[in-house]
Amino acid sequence: MKALEQFVAYANAQDIRPPIPVEGSTKHKTSRDPSLRLRFRVMKRDNFSCRACGASPALKPGLSLHIDHIKAWSLGGETTEENLQTLCENCNLGKSNAL
Ligand SMILES: [Zn+2]
Repeated sequence: MKALEQFVAYANAQDIRPPIPVEGSTKHKTSRDPSLRLRFRVMKRDNFSCRACGASPALKPGLSLHIDHIKAWSLGGETTEENLQTLCENCNLGKSNAL
């Protein structure tokens, strides 16, 4: 009988499930901010120039390039090389406005 009690206690212990992780309304596999390595890979792929207007710090000194989510993070877009693009600061800030 003692052995049975121990077995039941063991079985119950096995049944404990890990707590459900707290997440937002969308599930992401990646973190919002790309790592420095990923940023570099995206910029290199885009030839260190803006995908929207073609501006490049090589031609426009002082221009800074931003990494932008093609599909917005808030809409479930992931921080992957395929979903990131290089935009200059003007295009990134004006993305929601007409170019
Ligand atoms: Zn641009």
